Amino acid sequence: MAPVDPHSFSDPTQGTISHIEFRLEPDLAARRVRFQALYTLDRPVRGSLFLDARGLDIAAVEAEGAPAQWSIDREDPILGQRLHLRELQDVRRFSIDLMTSPDAAALQWLDPAQTAGGIHPFLYSQCQSCSARTLFPCQDTPGVRFTYEAELLTPDPLVAVMAAARVGQSRQGANTIYRFHMPQPIPSYLFAFAIGNLVFQSIGPRTGVYAEPEIVNQAAWEFAENEDKLRAAEGLFGPYLWDRYDLLIMPPAFPYGGMENPRLTFLNSAYVQGDRSGTWLVAHELAHAWTGNLVTNATWNDFWLNEGPTTYAESRITEVVEGVETAELGTAGRARRLLRAIERLGADSPMTCLKLSLAGKDPEESYSDVPYNKGLLFFRALEQAAGRPRFDAFLRDYIAALRFRSINSEQFLAFLEERLPDAARATDARRWIYEPGLVEGAADVPSSLRDEVFAVVEEYRHGHLPTAERVAGWTHVQQGVFLGLLLPSIPASDCAYFESLFGLRDTRDGDLFSRFCELAFRSSYRDVLPAYEAFFATVGRYAFHEPVFRALAGEAWSRPLARPLLERWRHRHHALTVAAIERILTQAGL
Ligand SMILES: [Zn+2]
Repeated sequence: MAPVDPHSFSDPTQGTISHIEFRLEPDLAARRVRFQALYTLDRPVRGSLFLDARGLDIAAVEAEGAPAQWSIDREDPILGQRLHLRELQDVRRFSIDLMTSPDAAALQWLDPAQTAGGIHPFLYSQCQSCSARTLFPCQDTPGVRFTYEAELLTPDPLVAVMAAARVGQSRQGANTIYRFHMPQPIPSYLFAFAIGNLVFQSIGPRTGVYAEPEIVNQAAWEFAENEDKLRAAEGLFGPYLWDRYDLLIMPPAFPYGGMENPRLTFLNSAYVQGDRSGTWLVAHELAHAWTGNLVTNATWNDFWLNEGPTTYAESRITEVVEGVETAELGTAGRARRLLRAIERLGADSPMTCLKLSLAGKDPEESYSDVPYNKGLLFFRALEQAAGRPRFDAFLRDYIAALRFRSINSEQFLAFLEERLPDAARATDARRWIYEPGLVEGAADVPSSLRDEVFAVVEEYRHGHLPTAERVAGWTHVQQGVFLGLLLPSIPASDCAYFESLFGLRDTRDGDLFSRFCELAFRSSYRDVLPAYEAFFATVGRYAFHEPVFRALAGEAWSRPLARPLLERWRHRHHALTVAAIERILTQAGL
């Protein structure tokens, strides 16, 4: 029996959806999509079937070809609505015809001005965590998986893509119908499509990029190493089971860095930086093809099972592709960010446990560094306790045994205690998973590149500004670690010095620029404000903006500026980004 999910009305014991045939007709002017969905259940269902829904305009529900009885009989601010299909008589197939709402949380409708080309609109879906129910009724829990086919009616000259295999296309009036097939079963949060002015460029036997024509060449160059990363990941985890690994380069308004939609990672174009320095993110999204997409967290309480092993794998792939020192610097930086997150949340906070307890809470509101970076350090501790060869064998067994399944923390722990009992004991695995805070010493990650940075910070603290020669050859990550170590504040004139030393105002590295803005605003260095506003107006990744808005809302000089800044650009951002910033402003009393 699938575990109970506190973020879904569904009851998988009634029967589960195993396959869906979709037809999608987007209306770009009205900002609505007509969904016609024909569902197949894993067995004949008698009586009731509960599905998750939210804000859908349902025109018809049929079961085995005849009108079905249905109602929306429960509502909840976090779960949305329960669609109750009643008095089913051994039903294997049912269909629903509906229109999405113009404010469906899963859809972002971008104006041409928000795209690289500036001429055509762009539409995409983002379902994680609980937004698939704003597109079509489903058992919207990561504990239920289904395969699907889809037809997507797309107005000329736009092109449709899905996180699925494209199997054909045909013409209908001034539209193209793109056909897709998803043969690997996915949880609902990995359903994804996009429509825009897109072209494809191949970069390897199994890899390629979809992007607007204006940036496709740049993107193909930036991510030319994806095939190497794919092979490195297979070396770690075993065969890649999703056939292709393509990227869709998203307009910068995308609220994430990347989203691991299977076969087709959605990646923020802010990471097309012209120097391949942002490609670590691909290592992360690619690793999700095993941890997250293949072995999936059963509920959002177990989110660390998606992100912890993936962040660990990211560091291992980086080690193969870019060397051990770069990987260790990344891990050291993540350990430091984790310590800061724990400090902010409070070392006793249940939010610092790996296993979360999110009943009654929106999973998006509980987003933090903990599932990623505490999960990374836990896997690192397990590797050290078991020894690398045994731990790598454990990882491959874990993936092979649990692939295409959704598991919770208890199932992970049972698997670990069975296969690596000594490492589970030596690391005190239960404490890592169920207790808040961090095991003593776990964040001590040796890194020679970080030590170089430490030395320069020490010199700076003793009154010596580093010269260009002193920091020559530093990577962006080192520059970012350096700026992070100067928090909470330095003299504003020193901000100006570092801005010019590292070329920060013109950097195309959003991680680095947002790190600098956080330090600058904490240090009352106002000159960077117009550059930050231009960045905020175009780039939607909320992880860039959260620390900066926390700084703006926390300093007397900038407090009055924070809310007006959000209000000026609210319309440009995804609801997730706006909500994340709203939470910061509200907490700060703004
Ligand atoms: Zn991730």
